[in-house]
Amino acid sequence: MKITDVEPICLRIPPLDASCTWGDDAFLVRIHTDEGIVGIGESDTSPICARAFIDAPHSNLHCMGLRRILLGENPLEIQRLWDKMYAASNYSGRRGLGIHAISAVDIALWDIAGQYYGVPVHTLLGGKYRDTIQAYGTFIPTPSDEENRSLVRSLLKKGYTSLKFGGGVLGDDPEQDIAIIAGICEEAGGDAEIAIDLATKWGHYQHAAYMLERLKSFPLKWVEEPLPSDCTYGIKRLERVQDTPIAGGEDLTTQYEFESYMKATGVSIIQPDITRCGGISEMRRIHALSRRYAARLIPHGFSTGILLAATAHFLASIPEGTLIEYSQSKSPLFCKLVKNLIPFRDGRISVPSSPGLGVELDESVIEAYRM
Ligand code: MG
Repeated sequence: MKITDVEPICLRIPPLDASCTWGDDAFLVRIHTDEGIVGIGESDTSPICARAFIDAPHSNLHCMGLRRILLGENPLEIQRLWDKMYAASNYSGRRGLGIHAISAVDIALWDIAGQYYGVPVHTLLGGKYRDTIQAYGTFIPTPSDEENRSLVRSLLKKGYTSLKFGGGVLGDDPEQDIAIIAGICEEAGGDAEIAIDLATKWGHYQHAAYMLERLKSFPLKWVEEPLPSDCTYGIKRLERVQDTPIAGGEDLTTQYEFESYMKATGVSIIQPDITRCGGISEMRRIHALSRRYAARLIPHGFSTGILLAATAHFLASIPEGTLIEYSQSKSPLFCKLVKNLIPFRDGRISVPSSPGLGVELDESVIEAYRM
C-alpha cells in the first residue's frame, strides 16, 4: 500500500476576519492510499498554519512540508514515518505547530492501519481494558450565577457525574471567580465532582497561591492551568502549598516537553491533547513517562468527534484511562462533522468497536465550512 495524497482540510464557522472560539474552527487531514483506504486525522490548532506545514515545498534536509515526506510511502510503517517527519521538519517543526501537523497525520495513519487489518485502533495499541469510559462535561461559565446554575442542572440531568468549567470570564477577577465557583459547586451539591480551568489566567504565583488559599473549602477535583506551563517553579510551589491537585500540559508537545514539565513541576495530572502532543504514537510515550513521574494522565480534548474517537481508543488501551473529556460545545464541528459521533450516555461513553478510528465524516458539513 502507498500514500497517494495528504489532503489538509481547514474548517471555520465565523468569517475569517471575525473572532473565533474553541470548537468553531478545525483542522483535518485525510490521507489517501492506492488501495482506496482513507485515514482521517485532526489537530486542534491554527488550521491555516497547519495546512501550510503540510503544503510547504522542500527548502532543505531539515525543512520540508509533510506531504512531500509522505507521498509514495507505506502508511502502515507508522513509527518510521513519524521519525521521518520529525527529522525532515526539524528546523520549522520539532515543537509546537510542526508537532500539531504531525499529530494529525499520525492519527490518520493509525486509522488506515486499523482499517487495513480490520480491527479498532485500540486493538493495535495492545487491547482494551474497558468498554466504557466515564466522561466529564466541560463548559465555559458566564458571569451570571443563574445561567451557570441552570447549565449545571441540565448537565446533572443528562447524567454527568463529573464537570469542569473554565475559559470565558473565569480568572479575570478574584471576587467574580469565587462567586462563580461557589455557585456552581453549590448547585452540583456533591452529585458531581468539579474541576476548574484557569487557562493560565491567574498569571503569576502570588495571585494563584492567594486564590487557592481562598478556594480551600471547595472540594475541587483539580485546578487546571492556574499558571502558564513555562512557570514551572510556580507550579511546583502551588503543588506543595495546598492539597488540590494541579493539572496542565494541554499546550505541550512531544515526550521531551512533558518530561521536562513533570520533572520541574511534580504536577499531579498531565493533560496532553492527542491532536497536538504528537498523535497517538507520541501519546503512548508520554503515558509511559507519566507513570515514571507519578502523574495521572487525563487527556485534554475539546474539538471534533475525530479527537474524541482517537482519545477514546487510546484511553481504552491503558490501565488508568478511566476519564475522558466531553465537549459541551454546540458547534456543528463537534455535533455534526462526525456522523457517528460517540454519544454520551449515563455518565459514560462507549469505546468504538469498528475498524480504525471508526469515524465517518459528514461531507455536507465539510462543504459548508471549508475555508
Ligand atoms: Mg484547559
